[in-house]
Amino acid sequence: MKNNYDLVVIGGGPGGYEAAIRAGQLGMSVACIEKRVHKGEPALGGTCLNVGCIPSKALLDSSHRYESTKHELEEHGITTSDVNIDVSKMLARKDGIVKQLTGGVAALLKGNGVDWLQGWGTLVDAKGAEKKVQFTPLDENSEAQTITAKYVILAAGSVPIEIPVAKTDGEYIVDSTGALDFSEVPERLGVIGAGVIGLELGSVWRRLGSDVVVYEALPEFLAAADKDIAKEAGKLLKKQGLDIRVNTKVTNAEVKDGKVVVTSEKDGTASDDTFDKLIVCVGRRAYSEKLLADDCGIQLTERGLVEVNEQCKTNVDGVYAIGDLVRGPMLAHKAMEEGMMAVERIHGEKPQVNYDTIINVIYTHPEIAWVGLTEQQAKDQGYEVKTGSFSLAANGRALAQGEAQGLIKVVADAKTDRLLGMHAISVGAGDIVHQGMIAMEFVSSIEDLQLMTFAHPTVSEAVHEAALSADGRAIHAIQRKKRK
Ligand code: FAD
Ligand code: NAD
Repeated sequence: MKNNYDLVVIGGGPGGYEAAIRAGQLGMSVACIEKRVHKGEPALGGTCLNVGCIPSKALLDSSHRYESTKHELEEHGITTSDVNIDVSKMLARKDGIVKQLTGGVAALLKGNGVDWLQGWGTLVDAKGAEKKVQFTPLDENSEAQTITAKYVILAAGSVPIEIPVAKTDGEYIVDSTGALDFSEVPERLGVIGAGVIGLELGSVWRRLGSDVVVYEALPEFLAAADKDIAKEAGKLLKKQGLDIRVNTKVTNAEVKDGKVVVTSEKDGTASDDTFDKLIVCVGRRAYSEKLLADDCGIQLTERGLVEVNEQCKTNVDGVYAIGDLVRGPMLAHKAMEEGMMAVERIHGEKPQVNYDTIINVIYTHPEIAWVGLTEQQAKDQGYEVKTGSFSLAANGRALAQGEAQGLIKVVADAKTDRLLGMHAISVGAGDIVHQGMIAMEFVSSIEDLQLMTFAHPTVSEAVHEAALSADGRAIHAIQRKKRK
């Protein structure tokens, strides 16, 4: 085995594998060390491909098709009988997609000349021009060895946060990974945390028939989203049947006679609920166990993240860190862009991730998505703010699709007319807000969006109308009072 490289990447998730591929493209000699074993097989792709983005979206899609076939086809004049869900087939489809993608990543690494080392990587010595990484193979019969490299990228990702009041047991009380593999639909499902995972996976099992209660410790629902979007999301998700209980703290969860009894407290009053399964999804934490030798000199933050600057450089020359391991949102696309930035900087180029235009998407139905500043954030930053919004109820395409729920909102600087944020809860919101991202990258104004011709009939027309509405000019809404 080779033991000297230009670059060693520790972690083969979206951040790490993209960095390794880009380095291979640029002609560097690269090793990517990944210790993950998924369903018995060593696997690349990290959290995202194995137990995150991809399997959750496969289940969201299957469960949405089931629910819409069962409940939405009738209004189109389509009658069905006996719509059933075969959970094992649904899970097998998801596993097949995961396998196809993780196999694809292995082929891409190979095709770009990257060595995938199956095992643990530990940075043991970061000083000097040649960094030392200890590689401990998954194969217990193989010896650990030291690899040297000019550059190291730390891309070890994150793992679910555990809470002492609801310890996971892998069967009744599970984290997000366990919730992707329930062999049958739980009759009653508890979820701790009304964040992204709680809403997505809570929606999957609710659509398939579970009675779902979501406990949220904070008083505000979806505090990170724009208030108008969060309000609409709360209304729609509750209407769908998610019992979201804000300001409610779980104080205990224990398994009794094959059920989970959850004790929660709201306004000083305690109550018990009994569930078949409980998902704990209260956030994730950076994963740096076995990654860094004690004296390797890499600085961590108080929260255990690897400390980096805007370009993902650590405090030690030649060592970068990216993705969930460092500050910023824990999102696959953010990890990927950081991986590419780190490699291209090593190569002498000067790219910079624009952290102001990282998109957030929650893949409920309708989707919830945003880019840039919320109205409140813009006000807090001292902008004189103007906003415009448009309801999907007045969008022809959304109505024709039977998807006329939600709204699109734009936030702008009233003085310069510059677009500062776009927020959507709508069918396809995750794609819609890319228009806002591109517009913001090109420092577009609300007027720019007003002057462009949007195709009719599309849901995107609601972006046009939201921009028009910021100046009291929306056509399919009555705005005479606002007119200048
Ligand atoms: P990871 O994907 O966590 O990869 C790190 C890899 O490093 C892991 O495979 C780990 O085994 C390996 N590793 C760690 N330490 C070592 C070591 N010492 N030696 C060798 N290998 C090591 N994000 C989105 O953008 N969109 C979504 O729709 C989305 N859905 C999600 C759904 C769920 C249920 C979850 C849990 C997450 C979701 N995420 C989503 C978040 C996304 O998965 C992460 O932000 C992303 O995977 C982070 O990429 P990463 O490369 O930083 O880390
Ligand atoms: P999250 O931070 O999105 O939500 C966790 C929620 O749990 C928060 O609302 C928090 O207030 C609440 N909470 C925390 N402690 C609690 C407690 N003791 N009792 C009740 N509520 C409590 O975290 P998550 O949903 O676990 O997701 C983890 C990460 O994975 C996120 O950072 C997210 O970026 C990423 N992710 C992204 C996507 C996506 O992009 N679509 C999907 C899934 C996960």
